[in-house]
Amino acid sequence: MLSLIFLAGGSGTRMGSPIPKQFLPLGGKPVALHSFDLFLSLSEISEIIVVCAPPYQHYFTSSTTPLRFALPGLRRQDSVYHGLKACHPNSKLIMIHDAARPFVEKKNILDLICAADRTGAAALATPASSTIKICTPQKIVQQTLERSTLWQMQTPQALLPSILHQGFLQTLQKNLEVTDDVSLAEAIDHPVEIVNGSPSNFKLTTPFDWLVAQTLISASHGAL
Ligand code: C5P
Repeated sequence: MLSLIFLAGGSGTRMGSPIPKQFLPLGGKPVALHSFDLFLSLSEISEIIVVCAPPYQHYFTSSTTPLRFALPGLRRQDSVYHGLKACHPNSKLIMIHDAARPFVEKKNILDLICAADRTGAAALATPASSTIKICTPQKIVQQTLERSTLWQMQTPQALLPSILHQGFLQTLQKNLEVTDDVSLAEAIDHPVEIVNGSPSNFKLTTPFDWLVAQTLISASHGAL
């Protein structure tokens, strides 16, 4: 049994919009529904836990996959924790996806599930294309990281429930902040497998990302 925690509980302030970015209309439907509809079509997924504020719950309906709701937390990791508590106790694998990534592809999701079954924790990612440096708060460069070893993490990410529970225990005990889910596996020294994602599976964060998303949607509608 595979549970999906679908994260749509952010306020999306960096986009500069009064509506959270995951509910802005994109190509005729809210951003969140682009990937949600794809997940609904996958028979591998046994249940979906949508983490979102009550006024937005009506966007999500399903006549096939069982659907439940959880309330968002202050930080992304708190929302994941609320979603985890709502998962079925018999779940064998938990997959987590950012609603703000509308362009995730079916093939990448299926590859991710295989990797997580194999390793216990896996995530989509793409190789870093820019040089990345560590800087001081005063923007003085301290170190240049070796680019060939760097990956930009995406979602979905998938983990065994036991790893998520142990990882959350570590974050509570050590007061850790994590910005993605496989960090919870890293916190307990469990290996994490990287699965090649697609560059189009970017997270809508800035107004520039929004322009790219609209261009991609227009191109895909034009191709139909
Ligand atoms: O804020 P960020 O872009 O990292 O959010 C990634 C995803 O996590 C988004 O889909 C957002 O809605 C969700 N999120 C959440 N609860 C929070 C913060 C973010 O569900 N407290």
